Amino acid sequence: MARKYSKHGPYEDLGREEEEAPVAVVSCWLCGRQTGKTIVWHHPVPKSRGGRDVVPMHAICQNTLIANFTNSELQRHGMDVEGILANPNMRKFVDWVANKDPDFTASTAKKQR
Ligand SMILES: [Zn+2]
Repeated sequence: MARKYSKHGPYEDLGREEEEAPVAVVSCWLCGRQTGKTIVWHHPVPKSRGGRDVVPMHAICQNTLIANFTNSELQRHGMDVEGILANPNMRKFVDWVANKDPDFTASTAKKQR
């Protein structure tokens, strides 16, 4: 099945006009690497806490982030990614993920290195 990526993503509820952006280079808010095919638009301040700003992230980075922080903590850090990276777990993760492919995700790792 040669199914192309349709515009079907986690960012569809943002209410913005999705234009097929040309090759825009977007860097992940958390790890600073370029994003891959999948860009996750993350709310640094959780939506449930009134957060409206979004930042581009890798899915794996967002997963790690929300696994390590509660909504209250995320709200407290807000856009302060430095504060988040001060967390040893996050620091370790970012160092670890630094050499991975932009499309690398822990759950869909198909590449045989
Ligand atoms: Zn990332």
